[in-house]
Amino acid sequence: MHRFFVSQLDVVDDIQALICSEDLIHQFTKVLRFEKGEKVVLLNGSGFEFEVELQDFSSKKIIGKVLNKKFCETELPIKLVVAQAILKNMERLEWMFQKGTELGVSTFIPLLSDRTERKVLGKVERLHRILKEAAEQSGRGRVPELLEEKKFEKIFLSDAEQEHALDYGEEGEKIIVVPHPGATQKFSDFCKEKLVGENGEKFSGELVICIGPEGGFTDKEVYFAQSKGAHIVSLGNRILRAETVAMVMGAIVAEAMGEM
Ligand code: SAM
Repeated sequence: MHRFFVSQLDVVDDIQALICSEDLIHQFTKVLRFEKGEKVVLLNGSGFEFEVELQDFSSKKIIGKVLNKKFCETELPIKLVVAQAILKNMERLEWMFQKGTELGVSTFIPLLSDRTERKVLGKVERLHRILKEAAEQSGRGRVPELLEEKKFEKIFLSDAEQEHALDYGEEGEKIIVVPHPGATQKFSDFCKEKLVGENGEKFSGELVICIGPEGGFTDKEVYFAQSKGAHIVSLGNRILRAETVAMVMGAIVAEAMGEM
């Protein structure tokens, strides 16, 4: 069944769905040529998914009946934040956003580090569309957030000190890791040790992964992160392209938590 995230113009409650956004109406009627009786899954970012039968079509709205509502079980138990230094090549960055979404990333932060050449992310609307489509395609219950550009040092401030505190309700435990070639601790060992307890209980706080730009982090940045309690980790002896790193780390996290 097709899955769609509704916009703020649309309403889905336990009984019915009212679709008013032009984009969705266009997609349903002109692109997919849905007719009365078509069943779709609608998501409103609440963590629930609604199975809806489309019943009443007009040019301004579509009304559907909710047949079933259930908790969406595709989200990782952990809040996975990827703070990726802005790359020169936008296509690679887009690829990273798409693959990270498929793997369950909750939040992306475009990072400004000493060796970041481009200081503005740009094409934000397009990136939001990429996140939404990847979330729909991969069966996610939420579209990942995309925050504004943030300086590397600011990642290490507490939530209360952040200008844009991550919106996860109560402040839970936060672990920050910085992958850096040559680090002595392997990220896979770190995940086995920190993400699942002896009795199998899973870490449910926030794991922030800070990935460097094409030129990597400077020694000064790595020392700074270490002094703030971040874990400096390795992904093996070969240097991975920055956009490969989020995917590899997302997969290692999911695997360690029994999600793969
Ligand atoms: N010459 C740069 C250096 O030595 O840092 C390479 C940078 S790499 C293209 C971009 C980022 O990917 C790095 O800053 C780091 O965060 C991550 N990375 C790439 N390969 C890694 C590895 N084998 N272990 C840990 N991190 C890695």
